[in-house]
Amino acid sequence: MATTGIPTKLQEQHYQISPDYVRISVAAAIELGLAPGRINGCSCNCINLLQNYPQGCAANCSYCGLARERPGLAEENSFIRVDWPLYETDLIAEKIAQKEAESSVGRVCIAQVQDHRATRDLIDMADRVHKAAPEVPISGLVTATLLDEDDLHEIKQAGVDIIGVGLDAVSEDLFLRTRGKLAKGPHRWDQHWEIVRAARRIYGPMKVNCHLIVGLGETDKEMFDMIFQLKSEQIAGYLFSFNPEPGTEMQDVPRAPLERWRRIQYVKYLIENCDLPPDALEFNDAGDLIRLAPETNSAKLAFDSGLAFMTNGCPDREGVMACNRPYGSYRPGEEYRDYPFLPDSQEREVIASQTKLNEIWDIAEQQIS
Ligand code: SF4
Ligand code: SF4
Repeated sequence: MATTGIPTKLQEQHYQISPDYVRISVAAAIELGLAPGRINGCSCNCINLLQNYPQGCAANCSYCGLARERPGLAEENSFIRVDWPLYETDLIAEKIAQKEAESSVGRVCIAQVQDHRATRDLIDMADRVHKAAPEVPISGLVTATLLDEDDLHEIKQAGVDIIGVGLDAVSEDLFLRTRGKLAKGPHRWDQHWEIVRAARRIYGPMKVNCHLIVGLGETDKEMFDMIFQLKSEQIAGYLFSFNPEPGTEMQDVPRAPLERWRRIQYVKYLIENCDLPPDALEFNDAGDLIRLAPETNSAKLAFDSGLAFMTNGCPDREGVMACNRPYGSYRPGEEYRDYPFLPDSQEREVIASQTKLNEIWDIAEQQIS
């Protein structure tokens, strides 16, 4: 467990903590010229920042590298399997402003962790970035447990235009087991939904998103029910592929098979972009997707476009996906899970062979792959 014996008041002197310090994804550090290297095949157009406190995160989600009961010091832990170097917040704000002056920055995202200072600090950090680079859109990836409606208004006033909520688990039962009481964590499903819906009212349609993790133990049916629900409320759903973190409660749980992940990506795309109705999907008693019967042409074209297999993330100011999180859900050298760029024709062939859609595709004349 990552603990500190130093009282809260003295921690600011002993540790480099938020709001004055912030962690930044390696991809974003490269993009801002703070770290050497390059990201294979794509650029990182979203600067992802993460709050830093001596105890990491005080929640205890069973799959997360920052969880309270994960062994080791918080500063040694990784988040979504990549290291997050620490910098002064003001330096990051300055670098963002410099980059914006050269060529526009797609988006900045500030992620909260569970800490009693985290809401006050999110507002402070968003304010610093917004003052340095007022044109750059900012997302707040919030910890719903810490917030009420007033906080959501204050966060907006500080310059945040999109709220992301790590819902992660797509059913109440799974949420309880992986994030809530049964995981010895503070999060509550009902409270998360109160904040998601309050944010939806305050920030507007498609200005709120829920992160959804594939592979925590949900059924296909639960995943698609959630995607339909979010669509009906004009809330974005962003898919993440579970990737076990060493040292966490779920370290030995296998990832979702690639075939299942690809089908979920594709069907989600059809629901959101081609108005696929719920009755186009059929499930067995275990909740596995066993039949897909879409309208013919648009579904085939959608598959061939490759768009369904790109990373889901917040857009830039032109509405183009900015948050592409290279290596967020796979390691360098591994198969892509979500593509941080539009897959080319060769990659689309690989995707088709991975998806094996013919096994569930119910339109004889429209064979895929
Ligand atoms: S609240 Fe977020 S950062 Fe904290 S343990 Fe859960 S998933 Fe990890
Ligand atoms: S999709 Fe990316 S930018 Fe948007 S809230 Fe999630 S991590 Fe932040």
